[in-house]
Amino acid sequence: MRNAFIPILSAVFLFLVGMLTINWQLWHMATLNSAGAARSSTFKIDAILNEAVNAADTAQHVAAQGCTSGGQLELGTEAALKPHLRAIMIEQGGTIMCTSLPGNGVLIIHPETLPDEKLMLLAGNRLINGVPVLVFQRPIPGGRVIISVSDAHLRDVIAGTSENLALVVNKQQLTRTGDVSPLPTSQPSTTLASSALFPFSMAWQAPVFFDMTRLVQQGWSLMLLVFILSVAVGILWRRYAGKSTSFEEDLRKAIIRGDIVPFYQPIMNGKTGGLYGVEVLARWKHPKSGYIPPDVFIPIAERSGLIIPLTKGLMEKVVSQLKPLLPKLPDGFHIGVNISARHINSPTFIGDCNTFGQGFKGKKIKLVLEVTEREPLLDNPELIENLNTLHNSGFVIALDDFGTGYSGLSCLDALAIDYIKIDKSFVSRVSEQKDSTILLDCVIEIAKKLSLSIVAEGVETKEQLEYLNRNQINLLQGYYFGKPVSYVEFIKFLLSKPKEDIRAYEEEKV
Ligand code: C2E
Ligand code: CA
Ligand code: CA
Repeated sequence: MRNAFIPILSAVFLFLVGMLTINWQLWHMATLNSAGAARSSTFKIDAILNEAVNAADTAQHVAAQGCTSGGQLELGTEAALKPHLRAIMIEQGGTIMCTSLPGNGVLIIHPETLPDEKLMLLAGNRLINGVPVLVFQRPIPGGRVIISVSDAHLRDVIAGTSENLALVVNKQQLTRTGDVSPLPTSQPSTTLASSALFPFSMAWQAPVFFDMTRLVQQGWSLMLLVFILSVAVGILWRRYAGKSTSFEEDLRKAIIRGDIVPFYQPIMNGKTGGLYGVEVLARWKHPKSGYIPPDVFIPIAERSGLIIPLTKGLMEKVVSQLKPLLPKLPDGFHIGVNISARHINSPTFIGDCNTFGQGFKGKKIKLVLEVTEREPLLDNPELIENLNTLHNSGFVIALDDFGTGYSGLSCLDALAIDYIKIDKSFVSRVSEQKDSTILLDCVIEIAKKLSLSIVAEGVETKEQLEYLNRNQINLLQGYYFGKPVSYVEFIKFLLSKPKEDIRAYEEEKV
């Protein structure tokens, strides 16, 4: 259940983030669309009101003629020809003189009482037929022209746009549904566009940021996609976490069972061909997969802390395997083990190394701690102190993979180092080709300047051996001399060597 918790949580988190993003996108689009729609509605209503302006010109002319029957006909024709206008009226001296409607009909109840606004919205109850209108007025000598615009045309303009757009004239609004009403004060609306020609604007009630209905209606397909992706991520995560924890679990069991075994790779004296020592390299003896190389499990062991019991177990095995061979080994024979920073930091480290040293008591074996600077060692004074303590009590410290990653100069000052091990990536470049040794030359140059002893690893060819011999690098390790082998193979190798070929190398500074 614990394993499922984080994948489920991450899937839910992803889904929520996805939903919020879709919601934001829909909200943003609604805002942008409404602003654009409001602008285009404003232009359309401007065009309708321009019809009213033209009709007012005609009405003004008819009024000047004294509202004759010919003039009344002219008004009727004008209203019929202007598709959006409902009625044109001329009021003079407080009376409606003539209108465009048959028989001088009037739809507005008491139009003479209308205030002198250029533009106004009239609610349905101010009209005989109960249908609201937009009224345009123009003053003329002794009165005014009153022109009404049908609400149907206005609603058509508004309806083609965003849902909650409203035509606003002097604090009154007309929406796509309903009658004319005062602007709500509780939820103030936002003006999206104003006419440059007439006193009206288009406003809207901005949509709420999070709207589940909008999300489901407009974003369901994206939500479905986000849901599928979130579930997929959760499942993949679960699988990955399951795999890595089960791998870690397998490794833990392997350490307890003693399935992590030492392989031994000879370190040779390149000049004499004598065996100088060995490097211990871990292998996982897997019941199904055979020997698993360390690159596969050491990083996981380091991350999980299992490297500490792993190294301890390996040290114990090395002691029990090599102890019977001690009579065959010369004084000063080197046994190198790889140590991870995580272990050096642990409180048991010095004790673990001392126990390892105790195993070879009575024989002058040189135990080499090969340290790789995978993270800058100098960042941790405790680690340096632990290594220096062990150096003072007789352990040999070798800086592994010199020249790669962080390994290098940074810790040479603070750390008592006996050897540097030049990584195989440098040695493998050495070939007959011109300039192939440039990098290695530099690394050797640095080591010489710092008076450090050098072990070169990864020697595979005669050319590489000759090059190293020419540069007085005499401690060598590589497939040219022998691959890392199991304990049994190592004994065979040892027995095949004449005694004089197994001897301590007279330490010389290169
Ligand atoms: P490393 O300490 O640099 O060890 C040398 C690696 O180079 C070994 O790989 C060895 O088999 C390989 N090697 C030696 N000579 C040659 C050669 O001529 N050609 C080629 N191509 N390779 C050569 P291996 O055994 O796979 O170990 C890989 C790394 O795993 C080691 O690199 C070391 O960093 C780490 N490792 C191995 N055992 C342990 C261990 O017990 N503890 C810790 N902390 N790390 C270990
Ligand atoms: Ca090493
Ligand atoms: Ca290396």
